[in-house]
Amino acid sequence: MVEFQPGVPVRVADTQVPVRRILGRNPGAMTGPGTNSYLIGTHSLSLLDPGPKDELQFDSFMAAIGADRLDYIFVTHTHKDHSPGAARLQQATGAELVGLPAPDVPGQDLSFRPAREWHHGDIIDTEEYSVRLIHSPGHVSNHICFLLQDEQMLFTGDHVLQGTTSVILPPDGDMTAYLDSLLYLQTLSLRYLAPGHGDIMDEPQAELENLIAHRLRREQKIVDRLEALGACHLDTLVLSVYDDVAEHLIIWAKKTLLAHLIKLQREGRAVLHDDNWQIEKNA
Ligand SMILES: [Zn+2]
Repeated sequence: MVEFQPGVPVRVADTQVPVRRILGRNPGAMTGPGTNSYLIGTHSLSLLDPGPKDELQFDSFMAAIGADRLDYIFVTHTHKDHSPGAARLQQATGAELVGLPAPDVPGQDLSFRPAREWHHGDIIDTEEYSVRLIHSPGHVSNHICFLLQDEQMLFTGDHVLQGTTSVILPPDGDMTAYLDSLLYLQTLSLRYLAPGHGDIMDEPQAELENLIAHRLRREQKIVDRLEALGACHLDTLVLSVYDDVAEHLIIWAKKTLLAHLIKLQREGRAVLHDDNWQIEKNA
């Protein structure tokens, strides 16, 4: 049984560089057991995804840091369940913020302001370990996965989740970019995936392969249903394509469906006429 107790640091794998998960107090339909914050290192620490503003969680972080030094705060993306806790922790510890600023769309934490510009491929070397930034747009445009190179452990934020699939949020989120980002991860040597929600995964390549296959199966289902239904409004299509999804999640499925349709439209395989989607006949 996996231990998912909020605020309590738990080692996630048998690694040389210690990685501890500190679960947030925000379980929910979209967050699973809650947001996973990860504390990396022994004395030269980094904390990944501080989560929402939460005084109790802040106290848990400070207790776990103890007399050691927090050098960096990594942020995979600026959704409100991942980054707003960063500011207080940064003030208290002087750690440097690492991540990309929020795109100006609803649901984003615009308070997240790293002092420097960060880029895909940047490497952060501490005394104990090194971490590589991997820009992975798709779920949102400013998403970064962080690779703990010493352990081949990839912190996947909301790009790859355990036990569920991420929502793609157009127009900032993008299905083409999402699939490309997954394909890129397949080129890396990986031992573990440490997601933003859910438990650690120790068969990264199998997970990635399943995830890509799942998305492509869904895309094929969209094409099949559009062919069967003819011109179709998003509200009707979503119930047909996501007939395996619980009703309270349909609002989110609709966003991901739109992301799939935009991808198909871009590829000349679907068109939008008067609020109705249909198959591009000349494709
Ligand atoms: Zn997110």
